[in-house]
Amino acid sequence: MRTSSNISGLFESIRAGDRSSLARAVTLTESALDSDRRLSEKLLKKLLPYSGQSLRIGITGVPGSGKSTFIEALGQLVIAEGKKVAVLAIDPSSQKTKGSILGDKTRMERLSRSENVFIRPTPSGSALGGVSFHTRETILLCEAAGYDVILIETMGVGQSETDVRAMVDFFLLLMLGGAGDELQGIKKGIMEMVDAIAINKADGDNIKSSQQAKADALGALHLQAPSASGWTPKVVLMSARENTGVADVWKVIQTYADVMRANGFFEKNRAEQKEQWLEESLQNYIRTEMDKPRMSSAKKKLLKEIAKGNMLPSEAAREFWGKVR
Ligand code: GDP
Repeated sequence: MRTSSNISGLFESIRAGDRSSLARAVTLTESALDSDRRLSEKLLKKLLPYSGQSLRIGITGVPGSGKSTFIEALGQLVIAEGKKVAVLAIDPSSQKTKGSILGDKTRMERLSRSENVFIRPTPSGSALGGVSFHTRETILLCEAAGYDVILIETMGVGQSETDVRAMVDFFLLLMLGGAGDELQGIKKGIMEMVDAIAINKADGDNIKSSQQAKADALGALHLQAPSASGWTPKVVLMSARENTGVADVWKVIQTYADVMRANGFFEKNRAEQKEQWLEESLQNYIRTEMDKPRMSSAKKKLLKEIAKGNMLPSEAAREFWGKVR
């Protein structure tokens, strides 16, 4: 995969919708090797004109809130419309343990059998930075491979919601009736990021508490300042397991996309996200540069001067960036 001619081959097969080529390309973008990075950039640039057409949807909720059950149900709905679905799951476990909770084959089992579905866990962090770096590129790759709907699942831990919010068109939070905010891991600020809340497991004995949760969520959303898009977040009762309300959630998402495309917010949001991507890339670049060995030896020298009192840290920083480049 390390020659330019193979990049052309990869380009062709991704455009033809070949899933194993798509998976290989994702692996290439995840590589921290400089040589791989250059190749993946070459590939991404070739594919860029064919990207952007999908609906990008972020889904969050604590473990157990029913995300994978919901994605199974929503995915079936979407593929029944003749569309292709990609599921990118931000996996917080994969970096530390190198294992993956998403390796669990039972997750989204039915969906993964469809040839119109691509499921891929993404590590939540790497040498290249946070979630965003890989996932944004993976979105482009999936779009160029013809995926119409991209579902990005986050486990509701750490920084990942904010990162994911910054790369999607629509952001959905799954909540449960009868559980307090702390129990649900609802962090401050998350309500301001959502376009809709699905109260999941609204079935059996949970119906009453789910209705209460819906009223509470609406109350909390009502207290917020109106969003820049002019959209009022919706709250939907759902049972992902019994497949009730899932179609309503899909309807809300489609309505949102229609309204936002018509009022120009859709494109405006995407343009702002590109700006954010550049900002993150600049930060990432500095971070990766800083990690290089020649940087640490330059730093050590300067530290000696600072320790002796010959230099101020601010001076050292100026000299550092002036010299090592
Ligand atoms: P995730 O960790 O957020 O992906 O949650 P899962 O989709 O794995 O669901 C966690 C558990 O909740 C599983 O045992 C599911 O069968 C169950 N579950 C998911 N959705 C529903 C639902 O709508 N109703 C009920 N009663 N259980 C559900």
